[in-house]
This record gives sequence, C-alpha cells and structure tokens, in this order.
Amino acid sequence: MAKTRTRFAPSPTGYMHVGNLRTALYTFLTAKHDNGTFILRIEDTDQGRKVDGAVDVIYKTLTETGLLWDEGPDKPGEVGPYVQSERMGIFKEWAEKLVTEGKAYYCFCTEERLEKMKAEQIAAGKTVGSYDRHCRDLSKEEIEENLKNGVPYVIRQKMPLEGKTSFDDLIYGHIEVDNSELEDQILLKSDGMPTYNFANVIDDHLMGITHVLRGNEYLSSTPKYNLLYQSFGWEPPVYIHCPPVMKDAHQKLSKRNGDASYQDLVAKGYMSEAVLNYLLLLGWSPAGEKEIFSLQEMIDEWDPQRICKSPAIFDPLKLRHINFEYIKALSPEEFAQHAKPFMEEYLPYIKDNALLCKNLQPRTEVFGEIPEQIAFIKEMPDYDVELYINKKMKTDPVSAKQSLEILLPLLKETEEWTPDAIFARCAEKAAELEIKNGKLLYPLGIALAGTQRTPGGGTDLAVILGKETTVERIEKAIEKLS
Ligand code: GLU
Repeated sequence: MAKTRTRFAPSPTGYMHVGNLRTALYTFLTAKHDNGTFILRIEDTDQGRKVDGAVDVIYKTLTETGLLWDEGPDKPGEVGPYVQSERMGIFKEWAEKLVTEGKAYYCFCTEERLEKMKAEQIAAGKTVGSYDRHCRDLSKEEIEENLKNGVPYVIRQKMPLEGKTSFDDLIYGHIEVDNSELEDQILLKSDGMPTYNFANVIDDHLMGITHVLRGNEYLSSTPKYNLLYQSFGWEPPVYIHCPPVMKDAHQKLSKRNGDASYQDLVAKGYMSEAVLNYLLLLGWSPAGEKEIFSLQEMIDEWDPQRICKSPAIFDPLKLRHINFEYIKALSPEEFAQHAKPFMEEYLPYIKDNALLCKNLQPRTEVFGEIPEQIAFIKEMPDYDVELYINKKMKTDPVSAKQSLEILLPLLKETEEWTPDAIFARCAEKAAELEIKNGKLLYPLGIALAGTQRTPGGGTDLAVILGKETTVERIEKAIEKLS
C-alpha cells in the first residue's frame, strides 16, 4: 500500500476555531502514526473570504501546537505549489480534459437565466437551486459559436442520470446515493477559478493524498467527488469524515458565533499542549483509561477508527481540568515562565516571585486567573472586618487586633525575612502565650491580603510582599480594627 499522505487544507479566514485545529490534529496523527507525510495546503480560491495575515495565523497555530507539516507553502515538496490560487493552470487543464471526454460541459447560462430558473422552481414548488441542465446537450455548433463570441462560461460536471454512487467512509460506513439526486455542479467558474468541489479532488489526487480527513459537512458532496475520481480513472482516498464540534446540543462551534478559537484560549491562559490534548479527546476515545497524552503518545496510540460518530460537545470544564493537569506537571521554572505574561503588572510589587509561583502553581487551573489571585499584592482591597472571624482558629475582630498588636513588634525586629524564620518566631510567641499558631497567623493573612483566598499562608504572604509592606499593612489593619 502507498505510504500514508494526509493534508490539512484550511481556508485562510484569519481564525482557527478549535474544530479546525482538531481536524488538523487528527490529520497529523493519521499520517504520523503510519510514519507518513503530513501536508499543509492553503485553500484560498475563495478570494472574497481572504483575510490578510490569515496564513500566518495558520502557521503560528500549527507550529505552537507542534503539528509540523512535512510539505507546505514554505516547505516545498515535489507536488507543489501548496497554495491553491497558485495552481490555477492545473485545474483548467483537467476540467477541459473532462469536457473533451464528454464528462463535463460548458455552461453559458447567465446570472439572469439562473435567477429566473430559481424563481420558476419556487413557483412550481420544486427543490430550489439545482441546475436544470440547460446547457448539457448544446450542439457542437452552438458551443463553438458561443466560444467564438467570447460568451462567458463555467464548466459543469455531467452527472450520470441513473444508477447509484457509493463509497465507504471510515466513520460513517457505507454511503449510497441515487445519481439522479446529484446536481451538475460547477467545476470551474467563469473567472477560471475552480470551485472547492473540483479543486479538492484534483489537488488531493495530484498530491498523492491517501487519507482525506475533514468535517462531515462534506459528506453529502463526497459522492460527486467520487464520480470525479471515477471519471479520471483515479483511485479515491480513504475518507474519514469527522463529526462537528458543537457548542451545545443545537449549535455548531463557529467563527460567526465568536466561539473558542485557539488564539483566544491561549490568550486566556490555556497551554497549547493542554488544548491539543483536550481536542484529542473531543470526539476520539482512547483504547484505555489514560487521559493525558504527549504528542508522541498521541501518535503511538492513534487509531482513526476510534473517532466517535456522534457530535462532540465542547466542554470548558473538561478543558480546565486537563489544563490544570498540565500546569501541575510543570517544573517551577516552566510555571514561572508561563505565568510571567499574566503577572507583568504586579512584578514590581512582588518581593519573592519564586515563592509566589510555588504557591500559585497548585492553585492555578488557567493562567489567566492569576491576576485575580494576586491583585491584592499591588493594592490592598477594602475588606470587611468580618473576615477575621474564623471558627476553627477561634478568631474574631477583637482577638485579631490583639494578635496583630503582638505580631507587629515581633515582625519589625525579625531580621531574617524568610517564611521559616518568620514562622519560627510566630510559633515561639504562640507557645509562650499558650495559644495556637493559627490564632496569630490567620489574622496575619487577612491583614496582608484582605481576602481568605490567598496564594499561601500569612508567613509566605509576608515574604512575597516584603517586610516594609507587611509592616505597613499590619499597622493599617490595627487601625481598621480600632
Ligand atoms: N478548505 C476547506 C475548509 O477549510 C477544507 C476542506 C477539506 O479538508 O477538504 O473547510
């Protein structure tokens, strides 16, 4: 069997929603599991939809997620060019070949005629849109006359009028349609541009693609593609149509709805690896219980037969959970590196970043939530003294004030400003007073952060804020409690 070659063929729309990225992943894995070739092809024939810089978004996304292509616009192989709009001559040639062989035909119908046809279809209560094959049987003379006069034309596929066309999809199984239901679709537009319906077949064949993975919205057109393969006498690829990624039970994820794009997720503080891992599981079930996969493990375990047939619903909670697993597994240095862009504004106020990060790591599910967790470092929030009430520690505003008054001179004279040293001094004092450590340390945390949800206990916070700020905040707290 031929070496596996797959392609990811995005249209450059300036945006990669997670469904597209999932297709890219499954396509990549199908090639790599077989030690095959993964190709990137840019499908930009719909010039109206073209967006500047969109190709860069595609490159960036695939590069960041590690879905590196073996051949593509910037990595020419033997079957280029890899940008569809640079392949124009090729499509015309193959379309003309079909015309010569009587498997396609010139259609000279004007816009007005097609509009009129549609209006008549509506009036007659027929299904609207299907071309009525007006030009299918024009005489040789009529055709030549039109061509001579430069009448614009499109080239249409001549569908068999009888019989059935069938194909097998790896996910959806055997599919069979009546040929009478297939429209004589346009292959080449009047400006010489191919339609997607034509270009995908020509390109996939010429690029030696063995497995075509794409969204199931193309499933219903695949019989027409298969007929094109037959017309040319080419072997069709293995078809793997993937169910859509849904926002909920009714709505597909889509760019139009502003739904999760890869870029948005990264900006919110999801890790690329986690997003990819989540997408792997969104519509594919592994053979075992394992849930966290490195890219190499994905490649090793990949089996396209395990793609689920039912639509996948995008589950933000599950994505969070996976992101959290990835964050927990980072080394302290890696964590600090990833967290840095989200901490920029606070850095001048943080006196011990390593300690802060150590406390943040087990508490962070998504990096984008860090600013909320550390906002108190820059500015003490205006908090309610009720926060000093803690049943377990047996504290309340009155006892808290006493505790802070004990801590203030103690901390002022503490030279060694480390969590251990501060803790030792506090513990010593608590023992001397025969009270629990918490009686001193709990109010300290509140006085320093103004919230119960802090990244670390009182002694860590003191070190993160530094001695000067710590003393200042305790003084303010005593004032507030007075
Ligand atoms: N350019 C098409 C899209 O972005 C690709 C479809 C295919 O993979 O054949 O939807």
